[in-house]
Amino acid sequence: MAFCPKCGSKRVLDVLCEHCYKEEHSLLDSFKDIHLVVCFSCSKFQSGNRWIRFTDLKHALMSKIKNKTKFTPGAKIEEFIVKPILPDFKSKPGVTINGETEVVIKGKVHPKQKTLSKERYIVPIKISFTTCKICSKKGTQYYEGVLQLRDIDEEVYTYVKQQLNKAGKRGVFVTKELKVKNGYDFYVTNQNFLKKFGVKLKKRFKGEVKVSVKLYGRNKLTSKNLYRVTVLFRQK
Ligand SMILES: [Zn+2]
Ligand SMILES: [Zn+2]
Repeated sequence: MAFCPKCGSKRVLDVLCEHCYKEEHSLLDSFKDIHLVVCFSCSKFQSGNRWIRFTDLKHALMSKIKNKTKFTPGAKIEEFIVKPILPDFKSKPGVTINGETEVVIKGKVHPKQKTLSKERYIVPIKISFTTCKICSKKGTQYYEGVLQLRDIDEEVYTYVKQQLNKAGKRGVFVTKELKVKNGYDFYVTNQNFLKKFGVKLKKRFKGEVKVSVKLYGRNKLTSKNLYRVTVLFRQK
C-alpha cells in the first residue's frame, strides 16, 4: 500500500495524494505581457499582422490573454474565465490604459485527477487605442479607383449604394461621392473590388463597362508603380 509522503493519505494519485498533487502542480506555467492594441473606429484588435474583429472588448481581451498564457504541458484546461477591471477611459487614438484582470483557470494537471484544479490570478493588462491601416485610409482622401456611373436609373443607384455600404463592412470604403453631369463618381479605396464590381454590374443591369488604368506615382518604400483604376458603367 502506497502512502502520500506529504500527508500520509492512502488515496494516492501519482506519488502524492490528489490534494497534495494539486498544491505542487499548477495548471499555469506563465503569462506573457498582455498588451491589446485596438482600432477605436472599426473595433478590431491586432494579432500579429492581422486585425481581428470583435463585438465586445472583453472577448478581445480574453482571446489575447489566452494567447499569452502558457499552461503546464499536458494540462487539460476546462474553463478559462477573464474578469477585467478597467479604469474609465475614452477610446480614441493615442490613448493607453492600464488595468488588471482576474483570470480563473479550471482543469486537470494529472489525467487521473477526480476533481478539477482551480487557480486564480490577478494579471496586469495594457490596452492601446489606435487607428488600423484601413481606417486611417478611410479618414483621408485616399482612393485607389473611381466608379463612374452614367445615365443610370434609380434602381442602379440604389443597388450601388447598398453594395458599397456592404463593402464598408469588409474594409472597402468610399472616400468621396460626386454628382456629375449624367451621373455619379464614387472614389473607392480598393481597386480589386472595383474591377469585380464592374463585372457584377454588367451581369445585373443592361449596359456597358469600361475599365481603364492610369499610372499616378511610385511607392517610395517599395519602388513599385502605383495605378488608379476607373470603372465606368453606362446603362443602356
Ligand atoms: Zn497528500
Ligand atoms: Zn480600423
